[in-house]
Amino acid sequence: MAFRVILLGTGGGRHTTMFQARSTGGYLLMSDTGTVHVDPGPGALTNMCQMSYDLRKTDAVVVSHCHPDHYSDAPCVIEGMTYGGWVKRGAVYGTKSVMEGEGRLGPCLSPYHLGIPESTHIIKAGDKLEIAGIPTEITRADHSDPCNVGFRFDTGNGIFSYVSDTAYSDGIADQYKGSRVLLLPVTTPFDWRIKFHLCTADAIKFIERVKPELAVFIHLGIVVLKQGAEAQAKLAEEATGCRVVAGRDMMQIDIGKDIAISDIEPRKPEWNDAWELKESYQ
Ligand SMILES: [Zn+2]
Ligand SMILES: [Zn+2]
Repeated sequence: MAFRVILLGTGGGRHTTMFQARSTGGYLLMSDTGTVHVDPGPGALTNMCQMSYDLRKTDAVVVSHCHPDHYSDAPCVIEGMTYGGWVKRGAVYGTKSVMEGEGRLGPCLSPYHLGIPESTHIIKAGDKLEIAGIPTEITRADHSDPCNVGFRFDTGNGIFSYVSDTAYSDGIADQYKGSRVLLLPVTTPFDWRIKFHLCTADAIKFIERVKPELAVFIHLGIVVLKQGAEAQAKLAEEATGCRVVAGRDMMQIDIGKDIAISDIEPRKPEWNDAWELKESYQ
């Protein structure tokens, strides 16, 4: 395995989230050095069950900001990472609003859940660190949670970037130059912009500046879904000449010499040996 991204959700925004029109479970990064779960919002646990994923394989949980479509499943994911809270392992990374609270936002993780992993870390724009062995740079966002950040992960085969919720500006986009794959939160279609988020027209400007090998639309708001996420991605592809796809729940992106996209077929198992969690009784 080179470097794998599994989209546990491709929805975002209040309406998509509350109706689960798309899952909002964030995504898993799997590298030779470890597995990271970024932004485990609603649906993360359900989709990990449907792919028979053992949560004890997660080495780090990252929460970009304090909005429920990005964090609500995080406490249970942290319990999974720590064998039900019995084994002190794994790391949790979050911005100040997530870990300590900022103004009226957060904290969104309890002292108990911050106490069970091996380590916890507050992240901010400009930080350079390793998350589960993956070299990572933290970037700036312009969002209603002022602590929100984006990410550049070094896959060993180029940069995989996650542009978390943000308004568009050239300065925000330029942080992602040199990215091979760009995960873009497109919350509204066409130029129907809402504050602090990207619409398709913003995504086009973003892609034109960054020129990635592949851009994937995620965080699809309900109006994008109504207008057709594939049609919005096609608009961006035609406008920019870059490969643009609309993310699908359980889509798998393998980043090696080539970039391969496939889909995991969701299937709820009747029984999974991981569920026994024998270590809980030691
Ligand atoms: Zn969001
Ligand atoms: Zn947000």
